Amino acid sequence: MIVDNIENVDLCIVGAGLAGLNALYAAKQYLPKNATVALVDKRESIGGMWNDTYDYVRLHQPYKQFTIGNMKWGLDRHESYLADRHEILAHFKRCVSEVEQHLTVIPLMQHSYLSHDSQDDGIVQVRLASKETTRQIHAKKLIKSVGFGIEPSQVLAFSSDKVHSITPEQIPQNQQHIIDSNKPIYIVGGGKTAMDTAHYLLQANPQLPIHLIIGKGTYFLNRDIMFPPGLDKYWKGTTSLDMMTQCATLFNGDNEAEVTQFVKSKYALSPHKDAQQFLLGLLSQSELDIVTQGCKTIVRDYLDDIKDNGDETRLCFRSGETQPIESGAWIINCTGYLLNSDVQSEQYHSQCGNVISINNSDNPLLFSSGYFLPHVFFQDKIKDTPLLSIDHVALKKANAEAFPFVAMTQLLYNFYTLMDKLPLKVIDQFHANFDKWYPLHRQLFGFTKFMINKKKNKKHFESSLLRVKEKYNL
Ligand SMILES: Cc1cc2nc3c(=O)[nH]c(=O)nc-3n(C[C@H](O)[C@H](O)[C@H](O)COP(=O)(O)OP(=O)(O)OC[C@H]3O[C@@H](n4cnc5c(N)ncnc54)[C@H](O)[C@@H]3O)c2cc1C
Repeated sequence: MIVDNIENVDLCIVGAGLAGLNALYAAKQYLPKNATVALVDKRESIGGMWNDTYDYVRLHQPYKQFTIGNMKWGLDRHESYLADRHEILAHFKRCVSEVEQHLTVIPLMQHSYLSHDSQDDGIVQVRLASKETTRQIHAKKLIKSVGFGIEPSQVLAFSSDKVHSITPEQIPQNQQHIIDSNKPIYIVGGGKTAMDTAHYLLQANPQLPIHLIIGKGTYFLNRDIMFPPGLDKYWKGTTSLDMMTQCATLFNGDNEAEVTQFVKSKYALSPHKDAQQFLLGLLSQSELDIVTQGCKTIVRDYLDDIKDNGDETRLCFRSGETQPIESGAWIINCTGYLLNSDVQSEQYHSQCGNVISINNSDNPLLFSSGYFLPHVFFQDKIKDTPLLSIDHVALKKANAEAFPFVAMTQLLYNFYTLMDKLPLKVIDQFHANFDKWYPLHRQLFGFTKFMINKKKNKKHFESSLLRVKEKYNL
């Protein structure tokens, strides 16, 4: 391999998804005009996972609550609209164009980050690989924002070859064939991808013979409660800050079953009453109704294999149960993307203070937007901001039920810590804040209540998080 193009830049950002673009947007506020930023990604274009996720994916939250910094969307849709991935990618491109009015952005797509070294003179050497060459960047600062390691899903492998095993990404091109075949469709997985897939296919044809195999079952926050429509938002619904504070106040590091019951009774809905898994997804009652009324069966078990036995083909479940399946049936792998990869947990800042890692596996709720950490970084406060990290990949393996409540508690704990360091203006400019859905008086009321209880809450949140770290050796 040849090393070419050693480039000197003011900033190098690895990862051009939501988090990397938020970092770029923050950089615009701190770097001088025409400062140079290398924007590196192994994908073909900016936008991160939205580039190649399944085509019918929609945002969980209304589109204005998913943005970069305080960038306004160019879309003229109803405020409840859930943007699709093409609209999200177009919005991201507009955001980058706006940044380019101020900074010189050097896009290095189809370049993979390999490693970096911090030199004595404070410069960071970043090594990248493209198809034919390796490339070195000399940067004054480095921001790594490689996300959750989300990649397109793979088909499930089975002993029998009498079924069609496909992924959600392959559905649009096979849609007519699936409908015309009139064969049963088994959606494997109970999370948001499974709901989206059932919803999408049932919208195309409500008579399709769809079966859901949902594992432990997933429950979702009810979008009608978290984002009440129209005038209801003036007095109905619960802000996210309030809902999360209630969960984190109840959670003590040991009682995830109790918090599950609390969330399910107040805020959640699910295709199965015994659903146990919660990945902080959102669903509306009308979406759920389409899925539950349209699906022929909902099986709460895990699919292990599909086997031929003489002339018969059978679904084999983890519980030991089996049932016959028609030859030619469709099996769709919707088993999920989040925290399943082996993205390495790492320190959120380097000793020398010129490298940060927006590591979603350590701070999944706080860092997934990538907004706050770059601000403390550019304000040179990173070393004095004691954020609490947890290896959530390990936690999810050890206790999946505890994961969402640990993530919420950690988000709130770290949010208190960040608020000690950042001016209110920076916090206010974070427009992906779900609470911005509500009128100002409700935002202010919730925020004031949260701040009044800061001392008591922070102590409790810290003790729960330390308990979890100790209990699961994280
Ligand atoms: C199906 C699905 C639906 C979702 N829907 C929502 C939603 O509705 N609302 C919401 O808030 N969140 C949603 N999420 C979560 C979503 O992933 C985050 O909101 C956000 O888009 C993640 O942004 P990111 O920048 O952290 O990660 P990514 O978008 O994954 O970006 C990280 C980038 O880093 C690049 N990268 C990784 N390693 C390297 C390397 N070594 N070298 C170079 N580049 C590298 C990757 O190619 C990628 O482009 C969803 C997730 C999934 C999987």
